Amino acid sequence: MLEYCLSCDYEEALELKREPVIITVRGEAIEATEEFYQCPACGEKFTSSYGHDALEEAYREYRSRHQLVQPEEIRHWREHYGLTLTELSLMLEWDEATLNRFEQGALQETSEDKWLKFIMSPQNLLYLIISKPETLSAEKRKQLITQLSTNRIVVETLQRFYSLLRENLSDFSKPLMETKPA
Ligand SMILES: [Zn+2]
Repeated sequence: MLEYCLSCDYEEALELKREPVIITVRGEAIEATEEFYQCPACGEKFTSSYGHDALEEAYREYRSRHQLVQPEEIRHWREHYGLTLTELSLMLEWDEATLNRFEQGALQETSEDKWLKFIMSPQNLLYLIISKPETLSAEKRKQLITQLSTNRIVVETLQRFYSLLRENLSDFSKPLMETKPA
């Protein structure tokens, strides 16, 4: 709420207005809504510092068009596994500030999004937890491995993986005794 005009002597509350605005995100025109206060006396516009953010709205639409992960999806997912920003950024091999910026609404590159989506698959998270033991405390690591080992997607992925191995490697299905030299 702006109680008076910042550029003339108008001293009453300024009205909050909304107007469509075109924001170009990576060369793509996206329509968003801009919120601002306008002085009825001098016509000066003042952006509203809290509340609606047109750039944030445009980024959200851009992510949705390109199936990129939204900021709150990253945070909810991270919190679901009880991972701190520090722990997850170590696993991703990113600066903690970079991960934090994405959770706060910065627009990720396609390559960064692929990496995020990779780690967000439970079987890949399990793989990274196992292969990067230094990123977590022993207790948290054990708890997450237990949690992920019973995850339906992980179990199904491993079953598919083993059945593919069986189909493609005929020796795989034979008992180990038979493959030993006499
Ligand atoms: Zn004014």
